[in-house]
Amino acid sequence: EKYVYSWGGGTAEGNATMKQELGGKGANLAEMTTIGVPVPPGFTVSTKVCGYYYSHNETLPSTLEAEITEHIARLEKNKGATFGDLENPLLVSVRSGAAVSMPGMMDTVLNLGLNDDVAAAMGKKINNERMAYDSYRRFINMFGDVVMGVDHHKFEVKLSEAKKKAGVQNDNELSADELKEVCQEYKKVYEAETGEAFPTDARDQLDKSIMAVIKSWMTPRAELYRQKEKIFGLEGTAVNVQAMAFGNMGQDSGTGVAFTRDPSLGTNEFYGEFLVDAQGEDVVAGIRTPMPIKEMKTVWPDIYKELDDIRLKLEKHYGDMQDVEFTIEKGKLYMLQTRTGKRTGLAAVKIAWDMVQEGKISKEEALKRIDGDHLNQLLFPILNPSEKASAISDNRLFSTGLPAGPGAATGQVVFTADDAVAWHKQGKNVILVRKETSPEDVAGMASAEACITSTGGMTSHAAVVARSWGKCCVVGAGDLAIDYDAKTVTCNGMTVKEGDILAVDGSTGEMIVGEIPTSASPVIAGVVDGDTEAQKTEVFKMFNDIMNWADGVKKLTVRTNADSPRDSKVARALGAQGIGLCRTEHMFFEGDRVWSVRKMILAESEEARKEAIAELLPYQREDFEGIFKEMDGYGCTIRLLDPPLHEFLPGDEAGMKEMAERMNVDISVVKEKIESLHELNPMLGHRGCRLSITYPEICVMQAQAIIEAACNEAKKGTVVKPEIMVPLIGKEEEFQILAKIIRETADAIIAERGVDVSYQVGTMMEIPRATLVADKVSGGDAGAEFFSFGTNDLTQMTFGYSRDDIGSFLPEYLDQKILREDPFQSIDQEGVGYLVERGVTLGRQGRPGLKCGVCGEHGGDPASVKFFHGVGLDYVSCSPYRVPIARLAAAQAVI
Ligand code: ADP
Ligand code: MG
Ligand code: MG
Repeated sequence: EKYVYSWGGGTAEGNATMKQELGGKGANLAEMTTIGVPVPPGFTVSTKVCGYYYSHNETLPSTLEAEITEHIARLEKNKGATFGDLENPLLVSVRSGAAVSMPGMMDTVLNLGLNDDVAAAMGKKINNERMAYDSYRRFINMFGDVVMGVDHHKFEVKLSEAKKKAGVQNDNELSADELKEVCQEYKKVYEAETGEAFPTDARDQLDKSIMAVIKSWMTPRAELYRQKEKIFGLEGTAVNVQAMAFGNMGQDSGTGVAFTRDPSLGTNEFYGEFLVDAQGEDVVAGIRTPMPIKEMKTVWPDIYKELDDIRLKLEKHYGDMQDVEFTIEKGKLYMLQTRTGKRTGLAAVKIAWDMVQEGKISKEEALKRIDGDHLNQLLFPILNPSEKASAISDNRLFSTGLPAGPGAATGQVVFTADDAVAWHKQGKNVILVRKETSPEDVAGMASAEACITSTGGMTSHAAVVARSWGKCCVVGAGDLAIDYDAKTVTCNGMTVKEGDILAVDGSTGEMIVGEIPTSASPVIAGVVDGDTEAQKTEVFKMFNDIMNWADGVKKLTVRTNADSPRDSKVARALGAQGIGLCRTEHMFFEGDRVWSVRKMILAESEEARKEAIAELLPYQREDFEGIFKEMDGYGCTIRLLDPPLHEFLPGDEAGMKEMAERMNVDISVVKEKIESLHELNPMLGHRGCRLSITYPEICVMQAQAIIEAACNEAKKGTVVKPEIMVPLIGKEEEFQILAKIIRETADAIIAERGVDVSYQVGTMMEIPRATLVADKVSGGDAGAEFFSFGTNDLTQMTFGYSRDDIGSFLPEYLDQKILREDPFQSIDQEGVGYLVERGVTLGRQGRPGLKCGVCGEHGGDPASVKFFHGVGLDYVSCSPYRVPIARLAAAQAVI
């Protein structure tokens, strides 16, 4: 087995396609070498060695040592220098690098190969003792810190002492003798801290460094990063050993980092910084203030020209924006790294779009390069990045929760939904802080700029509602101590009172004390609000083009989850083609409607119940008319009442009293009712189709409202396509009984009105049993005409995890690798996904061509969308502001 790959002198054993074995850095150093970019020679120890080490009881392959010896010899020949040689010593860097770039891995060691003798000889040879000892002290520091774990600060102290003694400010003002002295001090620190002498043999230094890189793969820091970024299935890290290029050789030397285009705005301009007479990470570490790359034109015009040519060459070769590192040694330029550059959402879109215009990449390729998070950044307000960074460095970070609703907001804190409404009416921007939210809080949430909860997960009530509105929201911030009585929230040693200002970043989950300016999205202004100024912006145009390209490729239809005409309008503007889920219960909380619902619940007789229900009919009908109108020509799936009835009843004494007064009954009646509806396990209790089975009047009223609205709209010329959906069935009989009622109700109205309206009756697939007998559910004349997989509940019931309580054990489950990610966010393909697939297959056996879609939160998750495309669904449905992301993901699933 081959474990080591060399590059240098214009040829290389590896290439850019070998990232898995050589890591990104190693693969690209090899690639750059073969395309004629100047790169110091070196070799890569493959990731297989790291993999071997951890699968063989922390031992290395027996052939490795000899192989490394062979490649050192090659490198020595290539560079014309030898390890430990006093005439011509070889110095190298040792660099980690996995297939995916990953902070948390071992930092780079530079100038390896130096010892007292070599440093002295080198200083004489190059006639620059200063540089020799500067390199040496850096090496002792890095080797001590990075390889042996000696606290970096211990070295820093010695350097500061030396500077103070010499009366200078900067490192590069120290003389050769002073630096020599620093080296001796550093060695003492090393010995004191490690209990060993500093290793003098280059090979010994190298072996120890290689080992340290391999070990850094499993540090908690690296593991945490991989988990957070969902990086799985990598063999390990590679180790790159590379001849040094010296940027610290004087005024004709230097080092820098650059992007081939602007990574924050995406403009096609060289962007970066460099430092004269410096080495390694000096630029990034902010030791001195670097110069903008464009100034190199005046300092070193020839080198600038060469670098700019390489910039164009690399971009052309890789076909994407690159992030490069380079060093200049006595006027000679060396490239030390290239990789695909990280970019903001705006830059991602701009670069992809520009490259299509430049004829560099296809539209499909452009679509692949933009991800959901990138698009999101274009759709939502953001906190001003530099103000946010400085607030965080000022210790104003209050807490970090789950990023449940994207965007950003700044406002005054309130603790009740009523206060949110009242303050908002006074023209204030408010941030609603709650332990959790319930349907009763929706008006307050609507009035708030952002909502924060201390409990709940990504599919909790607050999160779902916020996402459907595109509202900034952070949930599950468990370290917030909220005191409703005192109207304060405390965290991280800070207390925020009612009226205090908090800034919220819903894309990261961060909350910051004090005001941070936000900037709005021109895309939303242009697309949704029809703002003509916003429509003139480049970002608006790019967004539209990209969405059109996506629509040209995708096979899945993207619908939206919307409960109101307003949501429907936003979703249509963002490209939704129909409604996948309209939750009728949300309509019951608007305005005074809940009182009719409560009346219905209190009703003792069927008559009284019917009377209360009749009050709800006009409201529902009116909502449906609005929705049908917005969705002209597209299907609208409307779900019958789903939640347990107790959700509509007041939870506290005051609420009960108010209800008793309004209903004109004794409070004991209200209490008894609440008592009688109390369930130990409401999510598995009297809800969904079970409600309509026991109270068919509810189902009749809803069917009536839907069909009457459809007839009314159809008469005005709207093309209406109602799809009435029965929730939570487990047995086909449940569906059949209710479908019969719905069809009889609907047919009677249509016959009476004489309007040509066609409708479908289908069901939500959310109980595992239903997916397993799906052919019986869809089969026959009485069968379901469509399926919509409710993957929130399907996940909940398949795993048996309550989605509102998963937060209490999810971190541990992720930690112990029982779960790789929250199954409520990204579909569990193996289990829940299998049920979806099975349900589709069986369902279409029962009814050929059966329309199947998904309406859980997963409909807006790119990885899940890809899966749904694969199992042959007709559509996915997601909250309005996720529609563009779903359109993009649906296109990516095809490419
Ligand atoms: P990171 O992955 O953190 O960027 P690198 O391995 O790229 O770490 O090393 C950090 C820096 O060290 C590089 O940007 C470069 O400035 C310097 N460096 C690494 N190898 C060499 C080398 N062979 N010659 C000169 N400088 C080097
Ligand atoms: Mg680094
Ligand atoms: Mg680097």
